[in-house]
Amino acid sequence: MAYSYEAPVSQSLFDRASVVTPGGVNSPVRAFRAVGGTPRFMVSGTGPYLTDADGREYVDLVCSWGPMILGHSHPEVIAAVQEAVSRGTSFGTPGEGEVALAEEIMARIEPVEQVRLVSSGTEATMSAIRLARGFTGRAKVVKFAGCYHGHVDALLAAAGSGLATFGLPDTPGVTGATAGDTVVLPYNDLDAVRAAFAAHPGEIACVITEASPGNMGVVPPADGFNAGLKELCAADGALYISDEVMTGFRTSKAGWYGIDGVRPDLMTFGKVMGGGFPAAAFGGRADVMAHLAPAGPVYQAGTLSGNPVATAAGLAQLRLLDDAAYAKIDAVSAELRSLVGDAFTKEGVAHTVSSASNMFSVFFTDQPVRNYDDAKKQEAFRFTAFFHSMLEQGVYLPPSAFESWFVSTAHDERAIERIAAALPAAARAASEATA
Ligand code: PLP
Repeated sequence: MAYSYEAPVSQSLFDRASVVTPGGVNSPVRAFRAVGGTPRFMVSGTGPYLTDADGREYVDLVCSWGPMILGHSHPEVIAAVQEAVSRGTSFGTPGEGEVALAEEIMARIEPVEQVRLVSSGTEATMSAIRLARGFTGRAKVVKFAGCYHGHVDALLAAAGSGLATFGLPDTPGVTGATAGDTVVLPYNDLDAVRAAFAAHPGEIACVITEASPGNMGVVPPADGFNAGLKELCAADGALYISDEVMTGFRTSKAGWYGIDGVRPDLMTFGKVMGGGFPAAAFGGRADVMAHLAPAGPVYQAGTLSGNPVATAAGLAQLRLLDDAAYAKIDAVSAELRSLVGDAFTKEGVAHTVSSASNMFSVFFTDQPVRNYDDAKKQEAFRFTAFFHSMLEQGVYLPPSAFESWFVSTAHDERAIERIAAALPAAARAASEATA
């Protein structure tokens, strides 16, 4: 596909990056491989806007994949960071900021009776699973196809279609032994979960699920699905782990828990709670968390865990996220969903705007999408044309048809008008696209 616009500075930076870093990026999706073209090297962000190295401004609908829920460079977050930095950047000792952040998390999310801070969502899910295995003395982990929990070896296993329930390594470097304890099931299918418990009674340490998935596009849990998981886990003595790295502090003040009220045994957090810095967490039942070192025998540690700058940023961001902030984000999301849907309808493009609270994405199909197999049936080639038209018109979307779009409190009328102005041509490009 040829693009009618160029990004020479980004291209030269990408050429340089490709010499020193595999694929030129430090996280694969940033390389634009799903959509082609030159990844934009961003140099600054303010409110809902990003500016790239070629000096072009974009309305940002990625928000750093979720964290920037107040927009970029929010003055109060920046001030908190500057204040923290002025006192030093890392001490390797306990500090009050990490206590305050833990208290803020627990005040918002009642099932979190204790919490441990880490540096990435991957670390949070990895540690939660180790803890679940240590607590239960069991080995097996149930996960769902299309749910992403970070690049934890055991959780990268995603059974190819048609394979039985045993996970196979989805990437070289993950051994069969590691993946063999992972049972991969279709999302939104409680019968499959029931069958897994029947096949492995007393062997399953935990079921881990995205509280509401956003990594196969946005595919919310069917009514009663999370409650059913919780019930099946409790009946067998397994732990129910709700991964709220993406939904936490975004979909409501108390994340997805604030919406469905299903009480997990353990939960994982990241993104929003770090205010744009590497901070993440896992927490839950006090009797389970008591098994974590140094209180208990399950080891877990981190040189930069509870970093004072990251905790200051996270705390400042969370304290600004009051009811009014969520009302604003929900309203922006609703307005955009309706603009996007209308644009595709006008061009006769088969589509579904799928949402879970204020997270949403577009599937290029008019069929229901309840799981990863359904999501993969969409006409993803239409997204490529849509993406590049939006990019050319100054709107930065996630560079993949299988990612959630994110908005912030900073998305004001001007930003929405710019998106609205770009949509008709982009929807037309999607309608004219060929596979
Ligand atoms: N869990 C979920 C639901 C995620 O969406 C992600 C990242 O996108 C992770 C875990 C991993 O987090 P991180 O990228 O901070 O390691």
